[in-house]
Amino acid sequence: MPIYMDCHSTTPVDPRVLEAMLPFFTETFGNAASKSHSFGWKAEEAVEEARERVARLIGATAREIVWTSGATESDNLAVKGAARFHGAKGRHLVTTAIEHKAVLDSLAALAREGFEVTIVPVDGEGIVDPEVVRRAIRPDTVLVSVMHANNEVGTIQPLEEIGRITREKGVLLHTDAVQSLGRIPFDVEALNADLVSLSAHKMYGPKGVGALYVRRRPRARLVAQIDGGGHERGYRSGTLNVPGIVGFGRAAELSQAEMATEAPRLLALRERLRRAIQSGMDRVTVNGSLTHRLPGNLNLSFAHVEGEALLIAMRGVAVSSGSACTSASLEPSYVLRAMGVSDELAHSSIRFGIGRFNTEEEVDHVGRLVVEKATRLREMSPLTAPATE
Ligand SMILES: *Cc1c(COP(=O)(O)O)cnc(C)c1O
Repeated sequence: MPIYMDCHSTTPVDPRVLEAMLPFFTETFGNAASKSHSFGWKAEEAVEEARERVARLIGATAREIVWTSGATESDNLAVKGAARFHGAKGRHLVTTAIEHKAVLDSLAALAREGFEVTIVPVDGEGIVDPEVVRRAIRPDTVLVSVMHANNEVGTIQPLEEIGRITREKGVLLHTDAVQSLGRIPFDVEALNADLVSLSAHKMYGPKGVGALYVRRRPRARLVAQIDGGGHERGYRSGTLNVPGIVGFGRAAELSQAEMATEAPRLLALRERLRRAIQSGMDRVTVNGSLTHRLPGNLNLSFAHVEGEALLIAMRGVAVSSGSACTSASLEPSYVLRAMGVSDELAHSSIRFGIGRFNTEEEVDHVGRLVVEKATRLREMSPLTAPATE
């Protein structure tokens, strides 16, 4: 059986989530927008219950949750929607070098429309300095977008400080909280977040469902990016994915109930894996802060080992090298680059994403396999092979 340890890319649907979803495909299949019969009412009721559950997980109210097709859409709606609404007031936007492509590419699209984008750097640990964000904000800045936890190195940003600054300056704060949602506490009030992108499939829910939190007080204003029947209070038209939304709600409820026990369990597994690898071989470095980090994330560089080769050698274990999102291009990860990691070490990086269904036995197996295969590859590397005259 292959071992799945790539939970930043996606997670399996929890069987309890699937169970909640199933009736909404065949029995309770109504359109939540149908107001004239019980099929529609039942679907709407289920959607509203899910809305409550997702809202509760982030300290919001149900009316602040807008359903989308996933966090890519949520990021697009937040960034483009806010910029285009406020474009007459100001055309400057601030973000960081390590955002998800859904944010960076949305900002690039806005730049082509005449918006100006300032990209603030991160330090060697993969953390943004809130004071650098403060200095980047200008009188014409309308939006700051800083992710909560990074999908490659798992670093958690000082959003509370950043939120205090954006609130003080009267600038909207968007955060992509896909990776932290359900894994570590997240509260829109504590962070002063105005717009928050969420995705179900990163937290044991189904793929193709997401949400955008849109603050009501003070109200965050957006231009819809998908027009149609005026669903979701006009923010996002389209017939709702009722089974998916029900699954998202159940997933939110489960991760909220289990977070207090699950986070320390994942942290213990992560540290067990890190110790096994770092005690089994030398010149293995951790990318990103170990303290401000998601419990299940481990990102390691193995000097003189090609990450892609290590992935192939570890057949049967699903992990990622470099960046899952850009690995098709074999460019070194832009996140690691922004942290000042050399191209060579970026190419030798492996990301482990430990999740709900991973066990101690799996971690021990993966730790042994990594040490064995990486040691072998390093011995074969021309950079480390003993000189042969
Ligand atoms: C996966 C991911 C996304 C995209 O979410 P989808 O629901 O797959 O579109 C956005 N941001 C981050 C940080 C992610 O990890």
